Amino acid sequence: AAPLVVAVSTSISAKKGLLIRNRANFEGARNLNAVVFDKTGTLTRGEFGVTDIVTNDSHQEEDVIAYAASIEQHSEHPIATGIIQAAKDKQITWSKVADFESITGKGIQGTVDGKVVNVVSPKYVQEKQFKYDKEVFEQLSEEVKTVVFVLVNESIIGMIALADMIRETAKEAVASLNKQGIHPIMLTGDNQKVANWVADQLGIDEVYAEVMPDDKANQVKKIRQKGWKVAMTGDGVNDAPALATADLGIAIGAGTDVAMETADVVLVRSNPNDVVALMDLSQKTYRKMV
Ligand code: ADP
Ligand code: MG
Repeated sequence: AAPLVVAVSTSISAKKGLLIRNRANFEGARNLNAVVFDKTGTLTRGEFGVTDIVTNDSHQEEDVIAYAASIEQHSEHPIATGIIQAAKDKQITWSKVADFESITGKGIQGTVDGKVVNVVSPKYVQEKQFKYDKEVFEQLSEEVKTVVFVLVNESIIGMIALADMIRETAKEAVASLNKQGIHPIMLTGDNQKVANWVADQLGIDEVYAEVMPDDKANQVKKIRQKGWKVAMTGDGVNDAPALATADLGIAIGAGTDVAMETADVVLVRSNPNDVVALMDLSQKTYRKMV
């Protein structure tokens, strides 16, 4: 049978919205050296709104949104939700898609009316050396917007800029960690400029941006190789490998199933402060036992 303190803290944790899936790893939460956070959906709300639609000469804004929304209906990324919402707001209808696939860490692809459509990251466009309006892109990036490119048959028809909001509770969580001498670190697939700006707002000094899902896990491994005990907090499919690699994997909020199945602890509320609460609870629980 489980020791009494553990049983008691299980009911406390449930009340606080902390679901402990791996008790041994939860015990390690009392002496962490670093907490790594995914950005989108974890430190930010993950509720993107479309702020700008930029088109090239031969296309209308409606086309850009219609093509994008058509394939985004098959994605569960926060960017997808934002683009679908914009289509609904503008009463733009979208089409059926064949051959949907995601391009890991870089976007998505599908076929609409026999044409290959992509919605992808700046990194993808740069790697493939597609021509785009650098000035407009830089301007949107300066405004710390997340920019995605819409391609039809491998040519760019437009850019969609989206903005997210920082969680106030993330600011508090980072401050608590800093105060306790635990390193807060950000790990994101998003653009470096957006990442730096969010980190700056929150007081996070260590930032890794434009990181692919497998590299998220590698980065966590590297941090552990310093001899540090590391927690990873994330919500997305793309965070799952890193959650599995960390000493303590924490899935946050209404994240994806994959993240929740991989995590040691699930935070029911989307509140980064609960990471701190969880560390406190681990300390209290296991101090009593020894
Ligand atoms: P994060 O770590 O911020 O959650 P992801 O690894 O999920 O980021 O995504 C990295 C980048 O890939 C996004 O910033 C975006 O440019 C692109 N991307 C991923 N999924 C989509 C999608 N469904 N639609 C458009 N772009 C996407
Ligand atoms: Mg995320």
